[in-house]
Amino acid sequence: MRPSDLNPLFTEASTLRGIGPKTGAMLDRLVGRGEKPARVLDLLVHLPVSVIDRRARPKIAEAPREGVVVIEGRVVAHHPPGNTRGKAPYKVLIEDETGDVTLVFFLNNFAWVEKALPVGATRWVSGKLEMWDGRLQMVHPDRVMDEEGLAALPPVEPVYPLTEGLYPRLLGKAVDAALGRLPALPEWLEPNRTILRGWPTFGEALEAAHHPASPAAIEPHAPAMQRLAYDELLASQLALATVRGRMRDSGGRATVGNGTLAGRIEDGLPFTLTDGQRQALEDIRADMGSPKRMLRLLQGDVGSGKTIVALLAMATAIEAGHQAALMAPTEILARQHFERLSALAASAGFTAALLTGRDKPAERAKTLEGLASGSIPLVIGTHALFQDTVQFHDLGLIVVDEQHRFGVAQRLALTDKGRSADMLLMTATPIPRTLVMTVFGDMDVSAVREKPAGRKPIDTRAVPVERLEEVVAAMARSVVEGARVYWVCPLVSESEMVDLVAAEDRFAALQSFFGDKVRLVHGQMKAAERDAAVADFASGVAQILVATTVIEVGIDVPDASIMVIEHAERFGLAQLHQLRGRVGRGQARSSCLLVYKGPLGEVAGARIRTMRETEDGFRIAEEDLRLRGEGELIGTRQSGLPVFRVAKLEHHGALLTEAREEAAGLYADDPALATPRGQALRRLLYLFERDAAVRLIEAG
Ligand code: ADP
Ligand code: MG
Repeated sequence: MRPSDLNPLFTEASTLRGIGPKTGAMLDRLVGRGEKPARVLDLLVHLPVSVIDRRARPKIAEAPREGVVVIEGRVVAHHPPGNTRGKAPYKVLIEDETGDVTLVFFLNNFAWVEKALPVGATRWVSGKLEMWDGRLQMVHPDRVMDEEGLAALPPVEPVYPLTEGLYPRLLGKAVDAALGRLPALPEWLEPNRTILRGWPTFGEALEAAHHPASPAAIEPHAPAMQRLAYDELLASQLALATVRGRMRDSGGRATVGNGTLAGRIEDGLPFTLTDGQRQALEDIRADMGSPKRMLRLLQGDVGSGKTIVALLAMATAIEAGHQAALMAPTEILARQHFERLSALAASAGFTAALLTGRDKPAERAKTLEGLASGSIPLVIGTHALFQDTVQFHDLGLIVVDEQHRFGVAQRLALTDKGRSADMLLMTATPIPRTLVMTVFGDMDVSAVREKPAGRKPIDTRAVPVERLEEVVAAMARSVVEGARVYWVCPLVSESEMVDLVAAEDRFAALQSFFGDKVRLVHGQMKAAERDAAVADFASGVAQILVATTVIEVGIDVPDASIMVIEHAERFGLAQLHQLRGRVGRGQARSSCLLVYKGPLGEVAGARIRTMRETEDGFRIAEEDLRLRGEGELIGTRQSGLPVFRVAKLEHHGALLTEAREEAAGLYADDPALATPRGQALRRLLYLFERDAAVRLIEAG
């Protein structure tokens, strides 16, 4: 149970003073979690990304041309737009002894400009300066003030990420109200850590972050930011240590197969395993054969052949008389795995079942019965696998595909289905070594690095969007020759609906060109429709599949050979790599076209360059980490790394290592978090959404 002193932080933000339903809805959009409304806590951890520093008051000639500046000037003249048609602005000229600035207003009603900036008066204006036509101008000053007004403003004002319609002042008010709800909390960090480093308490740190005394106060190395980052990292590491520790403590058993089933499967494969696959399988079997419970991560690029490794490991578990389960993040993926693996299983002489949320009741009942009795040794499914109604006779091995799609809680629920079951997590996004611990804490890792023999390199090109017509023309030639094409439209705007419209427009445009050879898939579709579209593409009935990023999760159509990614500049590197991995799986030479809208920023340019230079997922992962910066939210989720709200791994890497060590010690000393410090740490887990670990402890 959540400690009751935290309750004020877990109430909805719309209950804060001065927040009406309209602002409440905007806060939900800004900091809510998916469909869930924003809470007071979500506002508290919505930290400023920069500040407006009003302490410096430069003369006009010396004022910096970037960031928000505050300057003083005498109002010299007003230049109303006159009766021109269209949208001419209203201009006001101000000056000091060093120079002048034109204030530019695009407004319908100029009355307030006249009132706020009377000719001859001296005013302070705050905004961004730019050169336009050789003159210095400020478009829409965010504030126009007299001396008194300026004195009333905070000298340093935080700047937050915003959402449409939400004004900085409104958000500031909400954050202040949220800070007012902060209860006094017991300290969960050791005094020697906080005192030696001059770290404030959690509450003080939030205060300092939201009311920065200087621009440096929100830099990653500022004491308050270090404190909050450490708190978040410690919460995540403690949760992982708890999960891992529980698994280890609940005990495993030695599972050794006799090689019959796995042997038959391997003999029936049209290829031989790569060295990497063989090594991974050896690692896994060694773990399974030891009495300790296995927790291993199998990393390998898309198409590196992890699935077959998983199947062979599952065959080993089945040979030993246990059951095995493979969990996939989506229905489409589960079906694909089922189709491929059940055939291989059948040829080796055992049955596999499929369990998703959409099975017919009679089939479902039969599957559940078979799992409970043990007559079905292998099951492949989605989240449906860990519902309460699913009971196993003797689950020995759990494989989780694309593990990062599942929360810790979901993985745990499945763990509970087999108290001593071994666990193999798979991920197609190679995670840089240094970061594996952020996702898994303490865990063993195998990597399949090389691609199966015979894979041809993917010809990757960057194409400016201005040449889209050429892309379509080239594609048309390939389509006539039978090629199959993925066409990816990004989800990028605030509104999924807007993105959807973009994908639908593209679909319509391609359809007018290619007729009924085109299909569309996106996340808002009914699962059955989506499956039908994918099935048409897989069978070749359709040759072009227009998709939002849903296809990134593992649609496997070996015959697809062209990947077109629109607005490639908006994708993260990990995601581009994932998407490209959808082609290059079959016989044909494949290509990937990164269609971008210029001009490319430095980071976007580097990402596209990296894509052209290499297909090595491990190198791409390292590069991704290096390039990952502020504002690059797309792709974070897909990268397999947890989404931290405060900590920035590129700055707080050392704290991560510390947090990991401390978490291990904490779990060793007080696994139930029962001591006073343990009780305080429980609060930390709730504050950073790692409370699944607390529930695990309480479940005993
Ligand atoms: P992953 O799950 O790692 O993305 P898959 O297991 O789906 O990759 O493998 C991709 C494709 O490569 C599959 O069609 C699979 O049958 C094939 N494959 C796997 N291992 C090999 C191998 N050693 N040699 C040739 N093809 C392989
Ligand atoms: Mg896979």
